Amino acid sequence: MKKNIALVTLFTLFLFLSGCGHTANETQLKQFIEMHVEKVDPLTTQANLAYWDASTTGKSEDYDKLKQLQLKIRQIYSDPQEYAVLKDMKESGQIRDARLTRQLDKLYYAYLKNQIEPELLEKLNNSDNRVQEKYNTFRGTIEGKKVTMSDIYTILTTEKDSRKRELAWRASKQVGDAIVNDLIELVKLRNQAAQKVGFDNYHTLSIVTSEQSVEELDRIFDELYALTTESFAILKKELDQILAESYSIAPGDLMPWHYHDPFFQRTPMVYDLDLDIYYKDRDVKELAEKYYAGVGLPVDDILARSDLYDREGKYPHAFSFEADRHGDVRVLCNLQNTERWMETVLHELGHAVYSKYHDRKEPWLLREPAHSFTTEAVAMFFGRLSRNAAWMQQMLDLSDEQRMKIEKVSEKYLQFQQVLVARWIMVMYNFEKQLYANPDQDLNTLWWDLVEKYQFVKRPPGPVDAGWASKLHFTIAPCYYHNYLLGELLASQLHSHIVHEVLMLESDEGVSYVGRKKVGNFLREKVLAPGALYHWNEMITRATGEPLTPKYFVKQFVK
Ligand SMILES: [Zn+2]
Repeated sequence: MKKNIALVTLFTLFLFLSGCGHTANETQLKQFIEMHVEKVDPLTTQANLAYWDASTTGKSEDYDKLKQLQLKIRQIYSDPQEYAVLKDMKESGQIRDARLTRQLDKLYYAYLKNQIEPELLEKLNNSDNRVQEKYNTFRGTIEGKKVTMSDIYTILTTEKDSRKRELAWRASKQVGDAIVNDLIELVKLRNQAAQKVGFDNYHTLSIVTSEQSVEELDRIFDELYALTTESFAILKKELDQILAESYSIAPGDLMPWHYHDPFFQRTPMVYDLDLDIYYKDRDVKELAEKYYAGVGLPVDDILARSDLYDREGKYPHAFSFEADRHGDVRVLCNLQNTERWMETVLHELGHAVYSKYHDRKEPWLLREPAHSFTTEAVAMFFGRLSRNAAWMQQMLDLSDEQRMKIEKVSEKYLQFQQVLVARWIMVMYNFEKQLYANPDQDLNTLWWDLVEKYQFVKRPPGPVDAGWASKLHFTIAPCYYHNYLLGELLASQLHSHIVHEVLMLESDEGVSYVGRKKVGNFLREKVLAPGALYHWNEMITRATGEPLTPKYFVKQFVK
């Protein structure tokens, strides 16, 4: 009732100020949106369903159908006349209604990043395909013998002989030298496209069109760098001791190949604990269903539509999927009763509930997450629980003794993993920024300068190669990596807010949220329902009382 009165008052005020219900431009925009949604709503649903079919069957005709539909959608967003109309409206300052402004922003950026003339677009696609093809068909070699990435991972996680480790590590990087020239050409083409629409380079264009700003990201990353350096140094020194001992060498002699991951982006297994023993006789699907129902975000309808188990030809990993913006949400998994799949199904269902609980009364264009990293944050918020000792105790009926055993190892692991990921993403973010700012500089040296600065890993002796280019994200998901870290930061910010302001607890010790409906209610009202109604930082401020900050991530993981 109150809401209605407020609306009437606002509306009257608006009439009074503008003289009529809507300014000419607002009417024009409304018509534009209506026609636009009429076109893209069914097309995106068709494309999404084609993607689902392709992923679940692996059939090439489904992939072809998907490609054609994606092209149709792209054609809509690359229309220069429609882009000009939107640009005029944005610059006119005549759009005052908040919902219309948000929709205009969404449309404007979607069109802006697709304003690439056909000739350049073709060059870009060709270049992109060339890099990916080379990447996919390349096999590294150890002493002339071809090896797969899984061979390499086995050596890096088990081999004690330093020479053999070095050869395996180098084999993982060889693809970098093989593709680096094509990749740099691709970077320059992307820059050309960005410069044509008025940006200094592609990195800036990507950040701006995803409603972020380079200054803001720099500020967050600098703060996190300062707040994690000391603790990372301590953790890293401790790890180096353990690793050096396992290879019977001095800590000072550790080289990049002594860490268990080619990029040192995962915690070496020295802190790992076999959690699978607690899950192997349980049903991870049932556990997830029960847990989500308990926090007031039931997922039975989502699971019923989902494709959950391994099958020939099916996509082997996992994702959450929204067929349309009218409620058809599903997940794809290849479930096994292990800790990794417990984490994965909790994570994907986190994405899925975000989509499921968008307020369907909001306009179609706003029925999506505030940002891709905000849905990542909700997914991480839930995914983190699979290793949470208190959660495991309650969901798996473990004894106090078992809980304490898990706690001892998993806290250390989690802490190291989070700080390590933060430091690793700092390398990726800063490198990509400089890569697009000047692709002609000595990138190989720049890479190792950043690795030494953020990860405290020494560059190998001798001339440096383009091993960095073996990170596939530079090719297929450019200028996106930083969002994984923003997701982690927001997951911690939501966690802290829920613990202290929603559940009114003194500390987060032993918090598992099991059976706490208040958690789901809070998330629904403040995060999931509004969708993209607010800019992501406004949504975060409205939900937690302050804009995105690394403070709570540090509080949770930097001890
Ligand atoms: Zn995710």
